[in-house]
Amino acid sequence: MSLSQALNNNKPWSDYSDLIERIQFDRETGHIWLDESQMLLLDATVFSDMRKVMVETLGMNGARAVLTRIGYLGGYKMADLARKMHPTKPDSEAFVIGPQLTMITGMAAVNLVNLDMDIESGRFHGEFEILSSYESDSFIKEFGHSDDPVCWHLVGFASGYSSHFMGREIVYRELECRATHDDHRCVIVGKPAEEWPDYQKDANYFEPLNIREEMLDLQDRIAGLKQTIESEQDSAISCGTIGASERFKHAWKMMEKAAESQVTVLILGETGVGKEMFARGLHRCSERSEKPFVAINCAAIPASLIESELFGVEAEAYTGANSSRPGHFERADGGTLFLDEVGELSLQAQASLLRVLQESEVVRVGGGEVRKVDTRLVAATNEDLETAVSEGRFRADLYYRLNIYPVTIPPLRERSEDIPLLADHFLKKYSAQYGKRVKGVSDKAMLMLNYHQWPGNVRELENMIERGVILVDNGGFVGVPHLFASSDVPPSALAREQNRERQRKVANSISNEDWANDLVESGIGMEAVESALINKAMCKANGNVARAARLLGLSRPALAYRLKRSTDLVE
Ligand SMILES: [Zn+2]
Repeated sequence: MSLSQALNNNKPWSDYSDLIERIQFDRETGHIWLDESQMLLLDATVFSDMRKVMVETLGMNGARAVLTRIGYLGGYKMADLARKMHPTKPDSEAFVIGPQLTMITGMAAVNLVNLDMDIESGRFHGEFEILSSYESDSFIKEFGHSDDPVCWHLVGFASGYSSHFMGREIVYRELECRATHDDHRCVIVGKPAEEWPDYQKDANYFEPLNIREEMLDLQDRIAGLKQTIESEQDSAISCGTIGASERFKHAWKMMEKAAESQVTVLILGETGVGKEMFARGLHRCSERSEKPFVAINCAAIPASLIESELFGVEAEAYTGANSSRPGHFERADGGTLFLDEVGELSLQAQASLLRVLQESEVVRVGGGEVRKVDTRLVAATNEDLETAVSEGRFRADLYYRLNIYPVTIPPLRERSEDIPLLADHFLKKYSAQYGKRVKGVSDKAMLMLNYHQWPGNVRELENMIERGVILVDNGGFVGVPHLFASSDVPPSALAREQNRERQRKVANSISNEDWANDLVESGIGMEAVESALINKAMCKANGNVARAARLLGLSRPALAYRLKRSTDLVE
């Protein structure tokens, strides 16, 4: 039995119920999902009209190039879905998802004439009969019969899909098209690009070769960027490009203003918001940018060494110091010194720091010589220094000296419109670092990122994207399971049993009210508990409000109200 017969006998072409099961209509958000891709259900005449406008504005050749390319990108994306749905099936069986997608999306009905493929050796020959192609129908309606084939989008889709599936450039041509004659069918044939002897003939319409060149070109550029990626990242941030939210822009504006003067800056914000990046940005924007930028985390240096680290040491100061050496203030002379977690400094170190700020001079530990330094200080803390002052842990005079120009970096959850920009930035950074081609973050994964509360802020997002880049297949989209470890676990019997066990435990703890005691004593507060519960449920329900409401035992409107209220609170 030939492969074609086997496939047709098993009817995998027309039985695409497992694909249909992956289509979800989310009535809350109005989204339609096919797995992790957001879809649109369009009136076909809209597409016809669009095509007509393209032909009128770009000419026949221009419209053909655009539609072929759009089809190519769509097909390319969908090859990931085929791999995901059938990871263990033979390639030729997993491949049927592509033709099935053309049917599900209403592009056309597809019959297999011949398919001979082998990914390892790169062999590919595919021939398909296309029935009732909407493209040929709409073309005939608008323009009458054509001298040339017109199913451009479909040919693009097949090429993108097969190319990504095979890992090499596969080019389709339409050998027969309904629009050129009165037959009922179109026929498309796909082969590796170089096996078409006259390929250059339609290379201008058909973009994949250019896409491949672009890809190769991009790979080269990525290799070049690899070496400079850190400084690229710094300059991208220093130019204020990573963040479009008002909160971000305001904080950045404050830094730019500070850069124009010599003022000491105090950066405030939660852990992971990127305080050092802001400090670097300020340094780069200032006239000190050619001089050193030195970053020190006060909490990372033992209290006994902090003074000699910051202010330097003279040889005979104490046992172990064999030679004199400058401290970070001297190293950063002419430039900027960034002191993170400044609240951790000992009282003695605070006194020395105050002296440097007031007199612009340092005295090395164990020495007597006074040295002039011209170092701009940028300090940072995630601690409430005012409290530290009231508790006697931090000198009030130093606090007032540092607090002349405070800048607060907002937490990521308060600037969620920056998440796509940041995600994209980290995606580029890590795909370069790991030598991977990554197409982007799937629509659904991006939605989940927006729902996440980001207790670890930008650093957490960066770690998550790095993990996603490591897990995703080359050329694919980073999806929900690549980012969120346990959100996509299938409800196997074991998982259900574990769930019951968990429910029993929770029920027990609720009945003896230990958890309530713990919560009350922790001082976490009702609002925080409610918002944590809601976030957890939203994450588990993939952002679906109705499903999350069921998990919480609430009605949908009740949850919607609470969600809205928590958003209002944030704003
Ligand atoms: Zn056709």
